[in-house]
Amino acid sequence: MSDPRKKHDEHSAQDLLRELFPDTHRELFGDGHGPARATLGLYEVADGRLALVHGDQLAEFTPIEPKGNNPLHCDLCHYTRSRSEAALYRVHVAARRTRYVTLCLGSAACVARAGERALLKLAGRIFPIEPVGPDER
Ligand SMILES: [Zn+2]
Repeated sequence: MSDPRKKHDEHSAQDLLRELFPDTHRELFGDGHGPARATLGLYEVADGRLALVHGDQLAEFTPIEPKGNNPLHCDLCHYTRSRSEAALYRVHVAARRTRYVTLCLGSAACVARAGERALLKLAGRIFPIEPVGPDER
C-alpha cells in the first residue's frame, strides 16, 4: 500500500474492467443501488452441457447433433458460426415442452460478446421452467 509503483496498477485493473466490460464489473462489484443482484450466468458443466442460472433457477442445455451441414447462428451473441464453433442445445422447459438453442462453444467468450442484456433475454426465453406444463400457449 505504501508502494507508489503498485498504486496505479491496482487502480487501473478495476477501472479497465469497468470500461471494457461494464456488465462484468457490475456483476462483480454491484452498481451501488438496488437490492442484491440477481445471479445470471451461463456455465459449462460436464459432458459438453451448459447450465443457465438466473437467480435460483437453473436450466440444463444438452448438446444434440444438428441436422445438415449449415452454419449455425448463435442465439446469444448472434454470430454466425461453423459447425465446429457452435452447437445446438436442447432444453426441457416443461414436462412435454422443449426449446432448442444454438450457442457458441466456449460460453465465456460468447457471453462476453453478447453482454448481460442478451443473456437476460435468453434467460427470459427459457425461464420459468415448469415441472409440469399447465401453462402451454
Ligand atoms: Zn455466441
